[in-house]
Amino acid sequence: MEFSLSPAQLELQARARDFVHDVLQPREVEFERAGGHVPRGWGRPIREAAIEARLHGGSLPRGIGGQGWSVLEQVLVHEQLGQSTGGLWSYIPGAYNVLLYADDDQRRRYLEPSLRGERTGSYAITEDGAGSDARAIQATAVRDPATGDYLLNGEKWFVTGPDDTDFMIFHCNVVEGEDRHPTLFLVDYDRPGLEIQHDPDYTHTFADRHPQFVLRDVRVPASAILGGIGQANELTNEWFVEERIHIGARCAGAMERLLALAVGWATERIQFGERIYDFQGVSFPLADSAADAAAAKLLTRQCAWMADNGADRKVVHAKASLAKLFASEAAYRCADRVVQVFGGRGYMREFAPERFLRELRVDRIWEGTSEIQRLVIARALEKRGVDRVVG
Ligand SMILES: Cc1cc2nc3c(=O)[nH]c(=O)nc-3n(C[C@H](O)[C@H](O)[C@H](O)COP(=O)(O)OP(=O)(O)OC[C@H]3O[C@@H](n4cnc5c(N)ncnc54)[C@H](O)[C@@H]3O)c2cc1C
Repeated sequence: MEFSLSPAQLELQARARDFVHDVLQPREVEFERAGGHVPRGWGRPIREAAIEARLHGGSLPRGIGGQGWSVLEQVLVHEQLGQSTGGLWSYIPGAYNVLLYADDDQRRRYLEPSLRGERTGSYAITEDGAGSDARAIQATAVRDPATGDYLLNGEKWFVTGPDDTDFMIFHCNVVEGEDRHPTLFLVDYDRPGLEIQHDPDYTHTFADRHPQFVLRDVRVPASAILGGIGQANELTNEWFVEERIHIGARCAGAMERLLALAVGWATERIQFGERIYDFQGVSFPLADSAADAAAAKLLTRQCAWMADNGADRKVVHAKASLAKLFASEAAYRCADRVVQVFGGRGYMREFAPERFLRELRVDRIWEGTSEIQRLVIARALEKRGVDRVVG
C-alpha cells in the first residue's frame, strides 16, 4: 500500500482544509443558535464557495461536471469536512453515486443541475417497518397498463436533505403479479400525492432535515426508473459502500479537531495551580483518543486505497463496514472524553465538543447501524477469509 500523497492530493487536502476553516467553521455557532432553523437560502453562500473551491461533485466524473476524485481523494476531503459541526458540508453540491446510472434525460434533469447546486436529491429507503432489514420494504410501484405510467405508494422515514431538496430516489418494489422487483424511481417533490407528513427535530442540529413522506398514487412515467427494474438492491449497496467510507473519513477528521481543541484547552486551563493537561486523568484519555483517531484514519485510507486499486468489491464492502464501525464508535468515545476535558464548558452548545457529542451519535446508526456493520464483517470473515478482511 502506498500512502504518500502526491502534490496534487496535498493541494486538494489544503483546499478542503481552507474551505472548512474559512467557510464552514465561522458559521457553526450562528447555525447552532438558530437550532438549525435558518432562513431558506442561508446555505447558498456555502454552495457558491464550494463551487469556487472546486469541491462539488467530488466522486463524480469530470465529464458531467464532477471532480473525478479517486476514493482516496474523497477520503482526504471528507477528513477535512468532518472537522466542522452542523453538517454544514451537506450544502456542498453533489449527487448520490447511483445517479451515474441515469440515462441522458435523467442526467440533464437531475444529475447535472445537482452538480451546479440548482437541485438537491434525497434517498428514500427506510420505512416504518423496514429499517435495518431493507428487504421488508412495503413501498410499491404498479404499472398502469393504459398509459405505461407507474403508480407509487408508500411511506418513507428519515428522508435526509437540506430544506430545499426537491426530488427523491425512491426505493420500492415493482409489483408484477406475485413477483416483487426492487427498483429505484426518481420522484419530484411537487408530484401530486407526495406529501411530508412529519418533519421532526433530532438530537443533532444539522443542515439536513429528515422528514417522513407519504406517497399516495403518485403517478410517474416509466422514464422515472433509475438503472432498470430490479436493480435497486445492487445500486443501493454501491451507495452504502461509498457513504460508509465517507463516514469513516469524517469521523477520523472530527477526532482530529476534537483532539486539537482538547490539547489547546487543557494546556491553557489552570486548576490547583497546574495545567490540567499535567494531570494524567486528563491527558491519558486524549492519548487513547489519538490512538483511536490514527487507527480510524489508516483503516479508512486503506479501504479507499483498496477500492482504487481494484480489490475484490466484496472485500472492499467488508472493509468499508470495518472503517465505519471502528471510526464511528471511536469518534463518539473521543467526543465524550473531550467533553469531560472541557468540564462545564464541554456541556455548552457554543463549544464544538458539545455539538460533536450530539452529532457523532448518528454515525453509529445511519447507513447501517454498528450491529449491521458487525453482521457484514462477520459474514465476510467466514466467506472471504480472515486474512483478506483483516489484512
Ligand atoms: C438522522 C437520520 C437520518 C437518516 N437518513 C436516512 C436517509 O436519508 N434515507 C434512508 O433511507 N434512511 C435514513 N435513515 C434511516 C437509518 O438508516 C435507519 O435508522 C437505520 O438503518 C436503522 O433502522 P431503524 O431505525 O429502523 O432501526 P431498527 O432496524 O429497528 O434497529 C433497532 C435496533 O436493532 C438492532 N438490530 C436490527 N437488526 C439487527 C440484527 N440482525 N442483529 C443485531 N441487531 C439488530 C439495530 O442495530 C438497532 O440497534 C436515517 C436515520 C437517521 C436517524
